[in-house]
Amino acid sequence: MNKLSFIVIGFISCSFLFAQTEDQKKDKEINKKVEILLKEMTLKEKVGQMSMIDVSTFIKRVDPHGPSWGPMAEPHTLDKDSLQKYVINYKISSIFNIGYHGYTVQQWYVFMKDIQDAVNQTRLKIPVLYGVDAIHGAALTVGATVFPQELGMGSTWNPDLVEKESEIAAYEMRTSNVPLNFGPGLDIGKHPLWSRLDETYGEDELLVSVMGEKAVKGFEGDKNDISDSTKITTNIKHFIAYSFPLSGKDRTQSWIPEYYVREYFLPPFIEALKAGAHTIILNSSEINGVPVHCSKYWLTDVLRGELGFKGCILSDWRDIEKLYYLHHVAPTYKEAIHMAIDAGIDLNMVPYDNQFMDLLIELVNEGKISESRINESVKRILKLKFELGLFNKPFRNPDNYPDFGSGKFRKTSLQCALESIILLKNTNDVLPLPKTSKILVTGPTANSIQALDGGWTYSWQGNLGDQFAPNENTILKAIENKIGIDKVSYIRGSDFNDTTDMSKVIDAAKNVDYIVLCLGEPPYAETPGFIEDLYLPDAQAELARAAAKAGKPVILILTEGRPRLISKFEDKMKGIILGFLPGNEGGNAFAEVLFGDYNPNGKLPVTYPRFPNDLMNYDHKFSDMPDHHWSYDGYNPQYPFGFGLSYTTFTYSNLKIEKDTIHFDSNIAIHVYVKNDGKIEGKEVVQLYIRDVFANLTPPVRRLRGFEKITLKPGEQKTVGFSLKVDDIKYVGQDNKWTTEEGDFEVYINKLSGKFYLKK
Ligand code: BGC
Repeated sequence: MNKLSFIVIGFISCSFLFAQTEDQKKDKEINKKVEILLKEMTLKEKVGQMSMIDVSTFIKRVDPHGPSWGPMAEPHTLDKDSLQKYVINYKISSIFNIGYHGYTVQQWYVFMKDIQDAVNQTRLKIPVLYGVDAIHGAALTVGATVFPQELGMGSTWNPDLVEKESEIAAYEMRTSNVPLNFGPGLDIGKHPLWSRLDETYGEDELLVSVMGEKAVKGFEGDKNDISDSTKITTNIKHFIAYSFPLSGKDRTQSWIPEYYVREYFLPPFIEALKAGAHTIILNSSEINGVPVHCSKYWLTDVLRGELGFKGCILSDWRDIEKLYYLHHVAPTYKEAIHMAIDAGIDLNMVPYDNQFMDLLIELVNEGKISESRINESVKRILKLKFELGLFNKPFRNPDNYPDFGSGKFRKTSLQCALESIILLKNTNDVLPLPKTSKILVTGPTANSIQALDGGWTYSWQGNLGDQFAPNENTILKAIENKIGIDKVSYIRGSDFNDTTDMSKVIDAAKNVDYIVLCLGEPPYAETPGFIEDLYLPDAQAELARAAAKAGKPVILILTEGRPRLISKFEDKMKGIILGFLPGNEGGNAFAEVLFGDYNPNGKLPVTYPRFPNDLMNYDHKFSDMPDHHWSYDGYNPQYPFGFGLSYTTFTYSNLKIEKDTIHFDSNIAIHVYVKNDGKIEGKEVVQLYIRDVFANLTPPVRRLRGFEKITLKPGEQKTVGFSLKVDDIKYVGQDNKWTTEEGDFEVYINKLSGKFYLKK
């Protein structure tokens, strides 16, 4: 090492040390402020800090004397009596959610001013923290930038885009004065029926971990300085193993062995916590008969103990109360609260009344919960508020955020949408379509912005897009813009579940060159998104068959939040393009791909099944695959995980593993050549899979262990290298502990394969 590099390294490490002490200093100062404030607080004030109330409790009703659930008066305003009750008397810590619809930044501003006015009338003036779900942009704020849902972002396989999206969402959430995001979702999307699959980055643990880490960085910033006026706190969710219910229905029980929870569901949370996520929200349901909201094991032993999490643990919607009236593990609501606080929850998403606070005070007064236990939670909540800078500036003027809803942000959203589109089928290169063609556009998703956005957009169920974003381009409008309205005809053909004017489609098809058939799902979130049948509804399948009978090539565009089955008519489609809820720019993105102005490069982040009773993730086990012929060839999805076509061709060659035998303490170095053999530029996702040939716990057929998205010009070749540590291929064994064993490993990239021996 020469002298200069010595000085440079010395300087870097000194500034690193200095930076660390700066952070530590800041942390110490905050802890001191928290301690001082805590000493001032009464039990009632402390318990208030542990409560989060739904905003609809505060919104004025049409009939002020009617029931509290009566229709809300427009425009939504906060009722002084409710503010008096909850903010001034009960001194609640936080408010969350929207009424029936989202708000403009000006409306949010008025809300925050009213809330702060109430806070100013309290003794200690502790600011109220506001939270909403910004899971694909700040999409509950009218005028904000709407991105693809997480499953769409997963389809991009581009972590940098997730970071950019989250940065923008954080900026627009701050503009809305909402500094707590209930996201990102770090659930592993393993069940295709699940109505929240679109809220996951996909079915693979590595993909979700990488995307989740970038999302936390984007929202909270590199240094997690969430006092920054453009950053907010994440609330990673839903801890733990929420996404694999046995029935496929949201919030129903799951039965998952602990090794499986640890190997598949825990790593994304571990990575997000390493990235500094400040808060975490819990799984509403139960695993192996134990509701997570009362699991001391998962919350205190694992999350606090093993993972060392120091931030706030939030309950999900009414879930403490559900321990009593739904899960029946507590005989009373009071006992449910006792169990949940004992298990480790800090902040309760109550959401509608004061019972929780009253009962918790009783529990402390009766000596069942100690005040020191309450102090632990309150300290965490106060600390979060200090870290967010709320004591200095409880709300901000939205006029100071000039980039809100800007063209610059929209451009990023378009890039995300473009990279999320997956080309699934292209028989005889029917796509891209010539711009001179005459097109018949049909199907229930063709002229709907809501069908592109999905849930949590302008409203919980995402059913107000046409009202709040009327100027966005639906697929139909985008096609008309692209090739001229005179070349496009439109017949809806069917609703989501009922056929309507299908016969007109056959007539209209006579005058066109192609039919663009737009099928998929209406928007939904959580329970209203339950389905009993994974097939696309019969009405849509009928429309597909009718369109195919019309004798013109049919291009199917699918917009959906989960892989709805198309095997009853897939063979009749000449081209298939899929967007997992690509957001407000989705219509434009489909049109770009359809007419070849953009070369598709999205890849499936989940397996696309062929039959409803044959649901298997890509990382299934060998024993999952018996077939009718007494052999093991029974893995037969419609399209496999990681699949997606391009308008160019990529050729893979020269897969090389640096050493045949690799020692535990060395790196596993693998590389491969990838060449663009086509005539246009394209992006390719190079996917590295590794198979542990024998293991003490039955190994999966393969696991994704690395991926990289590259861009290649025509004729260009790149070497893509992966360098893994042995830890990157470990698994959780029968003792529920991570392990790696000596033995053979197989490596797969595209159609190439190789192997190495791992030696101690
Ligand atoms: C969902 C959470 C969400 C919360 C607040 C719950 O019903 O499960 O994911 O963050 O509502 O909107």
